[in-house]
Amino acid sequence: MFPDQEHVWWIVGAGKRVRHAITVRPGARPAGDPVQTLCDATIKLPHETWPATKEPSSRRITERCAECEQAVDEQLARDGDLVVTTWDA
Ligand SMILES: [Zn+2]
Repeated sequence: MFPDQEHVWWIVGAGKRVRHAITVRPGARPAGDPVQTLCDATIKLPHETWPATKEPSSRRITERCAECEQAVDEQLARDGDLVVTTWDA
């Protein structure tokens, strides 16, 4: 609907224990795909938890990468319409 709207997702990469911020919609790529984070690291998109009734294992992880957090804050200062989503698989 708003293709030009900036959006970042906080996501736990496969096998990771902290959240990083990415600008690629997680559901748009297959699990295992490498994605560049705002702190210039590369994470792999996690596999979705199955069955879907099970709580996603990443939901307990609330720790955020400090570099990504700073990048998101800077982006928010530039663009107040930035949409920030916490994403769990
Ligand atoms: Zn990061």
